Amino acid sequence: MRKMVILKSSVAVVVLMAVAVAFLFPGKARMLAYPLARRAAEAKLNYETRAMASYETPHFTIKYSPADQPAVAMVAQAAEAAYAPVTGALGYAPGGKTLVVIYPDRSALNRNFGWSGSQSAMGVYWGGVIELLSPSAWFKGNTASEFTRTGPMVHEYTHLVFDHLTSGNYPRWFTEGLAQYLEYKVNDYEWRTADNSLAGRLYTQSELDGSFDALPDQSLAYRESLAAVRYIAAVHGEAKLREVIAALAAGRPLPDAVAAALDMDYGMYAIEWPKWAKMNM
Ligand SMILES: [Zn+2]
Repeated sequence: MRKMVILKSSVAVVVLMAVAVAFLFPGKARMLAYPLARRAAEAKLNYETRAMASYETPHFTIKYSPADQPAVAMVAQAAEAAYAPVTGALGYAPGGKTLVVIYPDRSALNRNFGWSGSQSAMGVYWGGVIELLSPSAWFKGNTASEFTRTGPMVHEYTHLVFDHLTSGNYPRWFTEGLAQYLEYKVNDYEWRTADNSLAGRLYTQSELDGSFDALPDQSLAYRESLAAVRYIAAVHGEAKLREVIAALAAGRPLPDAVAAALDMDYGMYAIEWPKWAKMNM
């Protein structure tokens, strides 16, 4: 009986300590659990796509439907072309092969995400996996090198490597800004639309921080996220951008990471990058 009481109370102490750790360091506890959740999501999708054909490259396993057989070599080439510049820029390479799934059409891709069908992405990164819309549904070019330059692989693979590196410790806008920054650096590609000029009224930093995905003009929100990341590299230097990323990987919140790397408080950063962007982008 006495033994039982001691056992129960020591279990209670362990549970209390775990709760205290999670309460005192919520970011740390979440960062420890995050890779496990990502691996579970990846294993689930790998299982769900077990009937699809698969194509292996040194760093990627690409799953596809029979209709996409003609495009798979082009996707493989773009994926491998993204590998060195993205892992080099972030100074990190995830272990094992990255799973890429090609969906034959937009409704199949959207169905998998429970989307309404209004999204028009060519690719999505979620849960450790890159999911692509079949090039046959959107790609109008002729060559694999054109697909490599204008396609989604550098963008989505940046999301993936950054997610591994930081265990999910980042706001949405920052990963979108970083993915576009590498597209800009590696492929000289920028997503410009009639609605995303930086000359007019911009969303505020707190709008980007708090509700990036809900902002009505997504092309403007994306353009601003690129500007906010590009400002760090262009004005303070690539090394400072790597410092911000290293601080996120160490579990610091983004405002602290930016303030420490740039020696500038976050409120000042929120004033400086739009000013720079209006002059230089
Ligand atoms: Zn993205």
